[in-house]
Amino acid sequence: MASELALPPRLTRDLTEPEPIPEAGIARAIELMRSGRLFRYGEMGADQNDVALLEQEFATFVGRRYCVAVNSGGAALCLALKVLDVRPGDPVLVNGFTLAPVPGAIVHAGAKPVLVEIGADYVIDCDDLRAKVEASGARVLLLSHMRGHIADMDAVSAACDELGLILIEDCAHALCATWDGRAIGTFGAAAAFSAQTYKHLNAGEGGFLVLDDPDRAARAILYSGSYMLHGQHLNRPSPVEMARWEEQTPNFSMRMTALAAALLRPQLSDLPRRARRWNAIHDRIAAGIARSQHLRLPQRPDKARYSATSVQFSLFGFDEPEIRAFLESCAGRGLPVKWFGAGRQHGFTSAPRHWRYAGPQGAMDQTHAVLAGLCDIRTPLSLTDQDCDLVAAIVREAIETVVSARAETGETGRAATG
Ligand SMILES: *Cc1c(COP(=O)(O)O)cnc(C)c1O
Repeated sequence: MASELALPPRLTRDLTEPEPIPEAGIARAIELMRSGRLFRYGEMGADQNDVALLEQEFATFVGRRYCVAVNSGGAALCLALKVLDVRPGDPVLVNGFTLAPVPGAIVHAGAKPVLVEIGADYVIDCDDLRAKVEASGARVLLLSHMRGHIADMDAVSAACDELGLILIEDCAHALCATWDGRAIGTFGAAAAFSAQTYKHLNAGEGGFLVLDDPDRAARAILYSGSYMLHGQHLNRPSPVEMARWEEQTPNFSMRMTALAAALLRPQLSDLPRRARRWNAIHDRIAAGIARSQHLRLPQRPDKARYSATSVQFSLFGFDEPEIRAFLESCAGRGLPVKWFGAGRQHGFTSAPRHWRYAGPQGAMDQTHAVLAGLCDIRTPLSLTDQDCDLVAAIVREAIETVVSARAETGETGRAATG
């Protein structure tokens, strides 16, 4: 039948597909495996020290004085809290739209997450930040640039100054992003990045802590587990700072392996090119889905330059069964869409209501209202322009299917999801 022939195409691309590791990284990894020297420290003689070189390169790339490479983004966040003297039981502010390892890092450091509301554009609400500082007495803000959404950093910096807050940036999705020309990751006392597979750099696992203060850098190196071999760091504070902290700092064994660094170094040099392509993919899909009247894309301030590895949008006027029907319709055409509004945590998506270990947080109504409609699509670099157009068409058509089913049952004016 003609209508069968007219069936719109399915997306056959696997959105979970990462980029292959560059050949130079594979070659160096094989060399390291042949030598067996996978630990970052050791009696390596004049051999190249991959982790130490990567730390130097990463610090330069972001524009900070020191970088300490570790085994995950979450570990880097935990170390940031430790070197900023966050003590067990201290309250630490964090925006409510983030990934589970972020409140997790606060708990790992023995501290107490204090969740701050987000607004309709997915970024921190500075009015609620003021209220939460007053209520909790917190002196540290862990600002998560979740999914690369950059808050108004002029407003955040002003609020931190006014409230006497120390800022830590979670840049797991913000490598290459800028605010008013300044790199994200240079606004706070410290910033953390991740090299887990679904970020901008992929070593399977890995993280970076960047900062400028030599005493804090010395402590981070020692905490990360440098044994007595911190002299092998190329990017390190002077022996004076190292000696000051050496016997006061426990070894948490959070090191990056030489293998991870070997895989990452050639990716870092290719990153500006990749980031441009990632943004082109994002912008093409975003423009395509923006043609639907039933969803909203977040407003991005003019000063924010993102580096997107995924696309987010909010369905509005959809109730839960309708959102589930939308997700099913997309999935049926080969497009997995994640949803932050689900009652149960699933895959990589979770929300404040799922972080019971964080302790009571009040209702977080505003954040849950925004998350109730928030959908998320991963955008691997392998997507062609044609794939992007197909992704957008599938989203638009799935929305239309749900909305026309609503019209048929005569229902109008359902409760808005935010
Ligand atoms: C991935 C991620 C992290 C932590 O990274 P891991 O390396 O998986 O520990 C932190 N914050 C955000 C927003 C992330 O997406």
